[in-house]
Amino acid sequence: MAEYKTPVLIIGSGPAGYTAGIYAARSGLKPIIVSGEQIGGQLTITNMIENFPGFPQPISGSQLMDDMRRQAENVGVKIIHDKIVEIDFNTRPFECSSEHHNLFSGDSLIIATGASARWLGLKNETKYRGFGVSVCATCDGFFFKGQNVAVVGGGNTAAEEALFLSNYASFVTLIHRRDSLRADNALQERIKKNRKIAIEWDSVVEDIIGTDTPLSVTGIKIKNVKTDQVKTIHVNGIFIAIGHQPNTDIFKNSLDMDPQGYILTKPNSTMTNIAGVFAAGDVQNPRFRQAIVAAGSGCMAAMEAESYLLKKNQDY
Ligand SMILES: Cc1cc2nc3c(=O)[nH]c(=O)nc-3n(C[C@H](O)[C@H](O)[C@H](O)COP(=O)(O)OP(=O)(O)OC[C@H]3O[C@@H](n4cnc5c(N)ncnc54)[C@H](O)[C@@H]3O)c2cc1C
Repeated sequence: MAEYKTPVLIIGSGPAGYTAGIYAARSGLKPIIVSGEQIGGQLTITNMIENFPGFPQPISGSQLMDDMRRQAENVGVKIIHDKIVEIDFNTRPFECSSEHHNLFSGDSLIIATGASARWLGLKNETKYRGFGVSVCATCDGFFFKGQNVAVVGGGNTAAEEALFLSNYASFVTLIHRRDSLRADNALQERIKKNRKIAIEWDSVVEDIIGTDTPLSVTGIKIKNVKTDQVKTIHVNGIFIAIGHQPNTDIFKNSLDMDPQGYILTKPNSTMTNIAGVFAAGDVQNPRFRQAIVAAGSGCMAAMEAESYLLKKNQDY
């Protein structure tokens, strides 16, 4: 068991956490990042990133996050591989205990624990993740220009992803386990009018089919839950759009959240309902789940933490 003290304790090592760390370190605040189980965050499970500025060629998610980690360490951020399991928001400094029985105390806290995409749980979903299986049309839609793709889900996200993908793909099949969509009426109308989108009602994905060399998806098997009939659809990409889960369980009952569990922050700010506690990245942003947005809000959180500490006249 070790004890760590810092003016700025950052929970999470995705783009939001690393960016907050870089800014806080360059302000002389000696930040500590507790990385969590997924060092580097969600991007580490994706194969190719083309939309993070500064990289003229596609870069792998792991490489991008490893570069961010090294940049953070180079400017003086201390990164501890551990997971926070409990936080005392009543003490000052805030006290956090960890899975490895370490104690972290921070005069300010930046929460950057992200959100996790929900997956179907199929064996081949993991195998082809980043090679035809995706949870983000904005991120990966471009790679499926002129190809057939499927979207799984029936809510607003699935409808939006299907509409977005119809700009690139030659055909989009929306697969929904019920006989009507949950998406807003306006989105449903746009789906109905779009000749490049068809819906497979009452259907679930049973398996994802593909090749090993190269690793790529060639189709999906879907089952109609009313008739039990199974058929294969030939697609090169499958987008799972069944929702995201913010990683906020440990903050429940302390921080204000929306009904889905995303942390609420003040408008145009990363401030939460507790002074000195800031939230950045996907954990407070169900709408713009993109790395560049998370990085931007990490920067905001570090700057707001610095102002908070200055006001409190902390000696660091
Ligand atoms: C498959 C996939 C592909 C994507 N492709 C792109 C893309 O091409 N371009 C793009 O801009 N965006 C893409 N995204 C979205 C992007 O990954 C996210 O918007 C971004 O990672 C959010 O950053 P974040 O820092 O908020 O959180 P995350 O990246 O989710 O990081 C959260 C961090 O918090 C840590 N953590 C969680 N709980 C704890 C705890 N209790 N204690 C300590 N640490 C904790 C985790 O270990 C992790 O390090 C993709 C997402 C996925 C899933």
